Amino acid sequence: MHNTHRRTFLQSAAALGLAGLSAPLFAAAKIRPAANAALIVVDVQNCFVDGGTLPVKGGAEVVPVINKLSSAFENIVVTQDWHTQGHASFASAHPGQKPFSSVKLAYGNQVLWPDHCVQGTEDAALHKDLKLPTAQVIIRKGFRKGIDSYSAFEEADRKTATGLAGYLKQRGIKTVFVSGLATDFCVAWTALDARKAGFEAYVIEDATRAIDLNGSLAKAWKEMAAKGVKRIQSTDIEAGA
Ligand SMILES: [Zn+2]
Repeated sequence: MHNTHRRTFLQSAAALGLAGLSAPLFAAAKIRPAANAALIVVDVQNCFVDGGTLPVKGGAEVVPVINKLSSAFENIVVTQDWHTQGHASFASAHPGQKPFSSVKLAYGNQVLWPDHCVQGTEDAALHKDLKLPTAQVIIRKGFRKGIDSYSAFEEADRKTATGLAGYLKQRGIKTVFVSGLATDFCVAWTALDARKAGFEAYVIEDATRAIDLNGSLAKAWKEMAAKGVKRIQSTDIEAGA
């Protein structure tokens, strides 16, 4: 609004005794996701909430936040961690190793996890309360037995593409808003790879929960900030119709 108009409006609002109403109208502008923006909902699966095989503390709390956010987006992408039995990221596949230790694989360092999100199991299903009827594509990742994939864009060997960048680019998407589990692993890697692939990237902090293994959460936020990932809250986004 032009300044003069704004002043006029405020004066008339005051005259009408509406001064109290004018404040929210001019509160800090909220982000309205454009038609070329997509919400990426990372790994909101049974395995990553209480009762699952690799629960993230408070993981299920992201579900209502994401459901609410979804109305603000024309484009929604969902991801699913989708491992084979005996996957290389499972501690059980490495004799003598325990979950949450690390080993060197051909492509580099790999944190070892409890067996989780095995293809086709109830554990790997999307959380039952996740209501995203307008989601358009589900990207499954980590389905090659020897390669893990935290990122929705690129697997952990940093060579194998999931196809998501191509999908988004062909659809003219320029900006991604990342939510889901877990902040310091799959969410962070997805946001960082989004930047690498040339997208503008936001992480909606309260729509994520973290594992925080040996300082991994602080490290992830630092890396994301360094690469231009913007950290916001769900309340910064204007609700959709
Ligand atoms: Zn996994």
